[in-house]
Amino acid sequence: VQLGGEGVGLLRSEFLYMDRASAPTEDEQFAIYAAIAKVLEGRPMIIRTLDVGGDKPLSYLPLPREENPFLGMRGIRVGLDRPELLRTQLRAILRAAVDARLRVMFPMVATLEEIRAAKGMLAEERERTGIQAALEIGIMVEVPATAVMAAQFAHEVDFFSVGTNDLTQYTLAMDRGHPKLAPQADAMNPAVLRLIAQTVEGAHAEGRWVGICGGMASDPQAVPILVGLGDDELSVSVPSIPSVKAEVRARALANCQALAQQALTQDTAAGVRALHVPEAGIVDYR
Ligand code: PEP
Ligand code: MG
Repeated sequence: VQLGGEGVGLLRSEFLYMDRASAPTEDEQFAIYAAIAKVLEGRPMIIRTLDVGGDKPLSYLPLPREENPFLGMRGIRVGLDRPELLRTQLRAILRAAVDARLRVMFPMVATLEEIRAAKGMLAEERERTGIQAALEIGIMVEVPATAVMAAQFAHEVDFFSVGTNDLTQYTLAMDRGHPKLAPQADAMNPAVLRLIAQTVEGAHAEGRWVGICGGMASDPQAVPILVGLGDDELSVSVPSIPSVKAEVRARALANCQALAQQALTQDTAAGVRALHVPEAGIVDYR
């Protein structure tokens, strides 16, 4: 808040579950969500439900060894497989939503069935707790299938947030932490940009909004392109807040839109990065 943040775009709730011997209780979670929301003084907060598996294992939630953990039990799949874990978290979020502007977001959603099942659980917990408080529902767009199907997902959710770390990894089939491949796994690859454009198009057609999270949102070269693609919100690392806000303010929207169209037609991430970003004032690219 002191650095100019206008809310929390991605509360990675894993921090509540890690480095401990058992899952946090509903009361513990409620207390922490409520405490964070209090500091925000009415600004919105997106709580992402537990996103473990693959890269983020938990000692008390042993997941069977998998050949391809990044293609296995991860994100929402874990919550649907262990419903009590997810239901406890949803109750805590619902309780915290009574006195705060909260949004809930499900990670790694790949199919319509998954989001419908998660929403079903939320509706049941609402009924069980009797809590009527408003709670917008969103999904992370981290799988190419979800970007391509954004128009269909838009019938199910209030908002989207593109998880650019995983979307890049799954689009290029390059492990985001791989020592040799990670440098090539650049979110500025035009394939990733086209999927973001497709997400925005599908979402806006149904009146839904799209945020961007993951490392790309804090990349000063990416920011004007994301704005130009029609992104509605940027969720950035805390130290980057002032510089990203300054970056957005320095650009004319029409320039960002022209730049984004240029970026979409590039062959490579290097080509996108080589594009010149004009400052304020309208520049004709043609
Ligand atoms: C992402 O994948 O871009 C994201 C924000 O989620 P995480 O980095 O926690 O996987
Ligand atoms: Mg992710």
